[in-house]
Amino acid sequence: MDDCSQQTPLFTFGVIADIQYADIDDGYNYSRTRRRYYRSSLQLLRNALESWSESAVKPEFILQLGDIIDGFNKGRDASDRALDTVLREFSSGPVEVHHVWGNHEFYNFSRSALLRSKLNSTLHSDRSLSEARAGKDIYAYHFSPFPGFTFVVLDAYDVSLLGREESSEQYSDAMTLIRQYNSSEDLNCPPMTEGLQKRFTMFNGGFSKDQLNWLDLVLSSADEKRERVTIVSHLPVHPYSTDPICLAWNFDELLAIIRSHSSVVCFMAGHDHDGGYHRDKDSGVHHLTLEGVIETPPDRNAFGTVSVYEDRMVLKGNGRITDRVFLFPGCQSDADHRAV
Ligand code: ZN
Repeated sequence: MDDCSQQTPLFTFGVIADIQYADIDDGYNYSRTRRRYYRSSLQLLRNALESWSESAVKPEFILQLGDIIDGFNKGRDASDRALDTVLREFSSGPVEVHHVWGNHEFYNFSRSALLRSKLNSTLHSDRSLSEARAGKDIYAYHFSPFPGFTFVVLDAYDVSLLGREESSEQYSDAMTLIRQYNSSEDLNCPPMTEGLQKRFTMFNGGFSKDQLNWLDLVLSSADEKRERVTIVSHLPVHPYSTDPICLAWNFDELLAIIRSHSSVVCFMAGHDHDGGYHRDKDSGVHHLTLEGVIETPPDRNAFGTVSVYEDRMVLKGNGRITDRVFLFPGCQSDADHRAV
């Protein structure tokens, strides 16, 4: 890991977020400030897959950062059909897909249905990922596409009112937590406060103790092996990488774990369709929130291709996504860069 000046990428991967496909006319977001293009999101996904298929260096995998179909499908009894439609597009693409779960997955399906579905990437991968799972009903796992590099998929709705049975202990724990901060009748309405407490809404969630402990172990092992770790989750965890209304409930606990491990280089999320980016001062970790396909006009695009080198990852954005360079903390080129 000492050579920080390679020119050819070791491998590349694709990223795309918040497709939220539904076979319905355009609409608006909750606060009616952004247009949503429910049908054309499928075409934008095709554009991304076509671009990845045609690229000279084929991506090793695609990260689908959650909210693959919209919650409106549920009311129309069209959840399965919409999911089949989107997954058919993905299967025509070049490589394996790692699916992250967002709130819209839970509007359409129960947690147990999702665990059995094609959106459970640990069941549908060439590699055996079941060993790398956080727990029986937690959808978090890690994989290594290339020696020295690990990717961790997190379950940001592990503690949530979504996807858990109302009779379960997890549901009542989540209700107790959200009610400490949010007294709205409709829990999708954020509390009438300024700042970070706005995150306590029903469309967000958090990470259980079990998942945090598991992550801590995975990262300790990666530290020892001097690996580079990228973590992905539907919900962002850095307050400066997103509108705070989209943060994970216990983002602070996750940030503390990330900051205590030298192996982590990047955290990628979706959910906030406007996107965002911040480099954490404490750790040098890059926090990227990817712009959402669903609020991208039909004549634009929203996907990225990341090239991975020994000392950095380079994001080539398409359409709304900005090009970025993520120098790895601790690398000589990063030290040089930060000294300037
Ligand atoms: Zn979302």
